[in-house]
Amino acid sequence: MMNAQLQNPITMPIDKLSRPLHDLRVSVIEACNFRCPYCMPADKTPDDTILQNAARLSFEQIEQAVKAFVKLGVRKVRLTGGEPLLRKNLPELVKRLSRISGLEDIALTTNGSLLEKQAFALKQAGLHRLTVSLDALDADIFSQLSGGRGQVRDVLSGIEAAESAGFDSLKINAVIQRGINENQVLPLVEKFRGTRHVLRFIEFMDVGNCNNWSMQDVVPSKELQSLIHGLWPLEPVSANYRGEVASRYRFVDGTGEIGFVSSVSEPFCGDCHRARLSADGHVYTCLFAGKGHDIRSELADGDVALHEKLSRLWMNRADRYSELRHAQAKQGKKIEMYFIGG
Ligand code: SAM
Ligand code: SF4
Ligand code: SF4
Repeated sequence: MMNAQLQNPITMPIDKLSRPLHDLRVSVIEACNFRCPYCMPADKTPDDTILQNAARLSFEQIEQAVKAFVKLGVRKVRLTGGEPLLRKNLPELVKRLSRISGLEDIALTTNGSLLEKQAFALKQAGLHRLTVSLDALDADIFSQLSGGRGQVRDVLSGIEAAESAGFDSLKINAVIQRGINENQVLPLVEKFRGTRHVLRFIEFMDVGNCNNWSMQDVVPSKELQSLIHGLWPLEPVSANYRGEVASRYRFVDGTGEIGFVSSVSEPFCGDCHRARLSADGHVYTCLFAGKGHDIRSELADGDVALHEKLSRLWMNRADRYSELRHAQAKQGKKIEMYFIGG
């Protein structure tokens, strides 16, 4: 017997905790040219940590999956990785997605190292928004945080290229770790205050199994907020929409906004309406999931099978890892961040 929600395609599924599906992250590639120690530590992810090309979904399959997700309520897609700009002909995928009716927002998260050459083509293809990860301005600290593979000047050139290409306001993501790059917080704020870009500080998370995470290395957002407030007073801004992951603040002197993503100190599972699709065609209903759901056979079987599979997956979802983090600290294997992209 078909579930009532599946019989009526207009009804959007909700999961077991009454959360609708609204956002989708699509990892277009698991490979990366960086080895950030909090994500892909070099000693645990050798250079051949990649899928064979053939194991990656094609652009046709990604488009088919996104269309199915849009029918289930998705309005925002974020392309990510690994490093998404390593995926060949990425603007071609953006172009395909930009034609999907009902999809309101297409964004991309990148480490920025290859952005200088690609920003214009991505904008032309219809990409709406860009997030650039930047954990330090100091050249040595940046290099260390990229696993010795990146240069901060390339990322800054990428940001400039994105501005010239017509991206209005970028998000700049910085993960701060205790004793590693805390001293980069104020220089980063100073650099982006008064620009149209929004800097967001992200708490170091216990994603995957190989980043040696410890609670002691997490710098809680509250601490960063009061550090910044001491120099440049801040006041809260109400969320743009329900489920917005960053708490937003504005500088009282009118020089823009800043955000904090506090997934460790203030979990937001109650409003989590995000699914993730890995480059090899598995759907994950939580960033900390141990197991994904293979949708490749449904992609081959056609849209009805795909719609049913995705609806069912969402309706069976009960994830709330971050709310239970402390109770389940020693739980089993989790998917690595570079497979599903943050
Ligand atoms: N390679 C691209 C990049 O770095 O922007 C996209 C993929 S990366 C996995 C997406 C985001 O996840 C980045 O902003 C990165 O800083 C963040 N990230 C990775 N590992 C993290 C961790 N352990 N805790 C918090 N954020 C993390
Ligand atoms: Fe690569 Fe991004 Fe992970 Fe760094 S955070 S290793 S750039 S995927
Ligand atoms: Fe969503 Fe899982 Fe993160 Fe909770 S822990 S906010 S359910 S991704």
